[in-house]
Amino acid sequence: MAKKIKTEFVVIGAGPGGYTAAFRLADLGKNVLLIDRDPTLGGVCLNRGCIPSKALLHVSKTMNEAKELSKAGVIFGKPKIDLGALRRQKDKTVKRLVMGLDQMARARKVKTLEGNAAFSSNTELTVKTTNRTTTSVAFEKCIIAVGSVSSGIPGVPMDHPSVLTSKTALELKEIPKTMLVIGGGAIGLELGQVYATLGTKVTIVELMQTLIPAADVDIVEPLRKKLERQGITVLLSSRVEKVEVKGKNALRISIQNKERTTTKTFNAVLVAVGRTPNKDLLNLEKTDVTTDDHGYVSVDEYQRTSVDTIFAIGDIVGHPMLAHKASHEGKVAAEVAAGKAAVFDVAAIPNVVYTDPEVAWAGLTEKEAKKMDVSYKAGEFPWAASGKAAILSAGEGKTKILFDSNTQRILGVGIVGPGAGDLIAEGALAIEMGADAEDIALTVHPHPTISETISAAAEVFTGTITDLYVPKK
Ligand code: FAD
Repeated sequence: MAKKIKTEFVVIGAGPGGYTAAFRLADLGKNVLLIDRDPTLGGVCLNRGCIPSKALLHVSKTMNEAKELSKAGVIFGKPKIDLGALRRQKDKTVKRLVMGLDQMARARKVKTLEGNAAFSSNTELTVKTTNRTTTSVAFEKCIIAVGSVSSGIPGVPMDHPSVLTSKTALELKEIPKTMLVIGGGAIGLELGQVYATLGTKVTIVELMQTLIPAADVDIVEPLRKKLERQGITVLLSSRVEKVEVKGKNALRISIQNKERTTTKTFNAVLVAVGRTPNKDLLNLEKTDVTTDDHGYVSVDEYQRTSVDTIFAIGDIVGHPMLAHKASHEGKVAAEVAAGKAAVFDVAAIPNVVYTDPEVAWAGLTEKEAKKMDVSYKAGEFPWAASGKAAILSAGEGKTKILFDSNTQRILGVGIVGPGAGDLIAEGALAIEMGADAEDIALTVHPHPTISETISAAAEVFTGTITDLYVPKK
């Protein structure tokens, strides 16, 4: 017979959205049950996304930096890679953070339940645990935070052992000799660069004309050049036409671009073409919760679904599919559900691609400003003129700030170069605070740091730059 539980609040999914919501509810003095089908808390981000990928990118960046040091006369020689040790180090990082989450859940008295949750009505869930016991959960308020899964591509045999998703690529079972990465977005580029540094000959194929199509081309170009210098082949405006299995480690792939179709055999394929909302096992049809045409749960700015007592957050409600967006929405949903005044009202959600060099942007891109017919002017500071960038051999970097032509208020920031992901936070703060060009230009930045490029980009806009010579028009 099914066990029965009654709870005031239930959260389905313990990723960055779900655990944040559950912890915030607990901090507001509420009783909360957090359900996840995984045995560990943390969701995709912690277990098979942000954290393990960044742990590997840290290693790959350090390896590339060590190689670069030969220019300064410090030569380490060819690296020896102990794949088992590398895997253990990555897993150790994840485990430590999972343990931290466990402790925080216990300290807050958040109850957890492992199992797959499915709705039976607007007020009840059925949770099937791995040992096949069933628990029925009657709730007053529910927050859906079930995230997303990697999308497949028709015609690509996703069950073939050499066809990888981000999840299996992060397991790092082997370093294939050759790999085709399908998709030139954040996940494909990050993992493609990791494998390339570890010794794989990587080819990246992207359907659009540029890598990271959401970002401005000038911000992405230094990354494309660096990838090519690293020996990665980048095929733009190209599509995978046909995949033929030729053996356990051999896939014959036809790639079509404007002029011709080329066919090549790869030892592995990484499919990184985007993510799909994770709602198939949720039985949403048993509720009055509505979804949009792409399958995302529809919510308002209070994270409420079409059922007042059911909220949704994170990847399941749509783009941008980012951990920091999920956790911010988690706090809003928890506070609104607990009867507090809160709303999802942010001026900018920063995007970061953690490659080497990093690519980051927040607020409007030039592409978007043009499309929206916004009158803007850009202030750009090339890192070739930055002392810190010279020390880091990062002269290819760039900081660009878009300002409203009339009010001189900041509209957006784009940065490429090492540490761009940390630097973009200042841009996001400036956008959130409604700073104008003078606010940024007159803020004293420490020297020598890359952060100076932010005030310098604003000074280029205000015409007060002294670190560059800009001839008067
Ligand atoms: P998720 O983290 O997807 O968690 C959802 C949880 O719900 C999962 O644990 C799942 O098991 C559980 N679940 C699903 N259905 C059910 C059910 N029916 N019953 C019970 N449990 C269920 N974002 C960044 O911001 N920065 C990065 O650097 C970054 N890197 C990434 C790298 C990779 C390789 C990937 C794949 C993603 C990356 N992301 C990154 C995206 C980020 O991981 C997601 O945006 C984030 O995890 C979404 O959080 P979430 O809370 O919505 O859901």
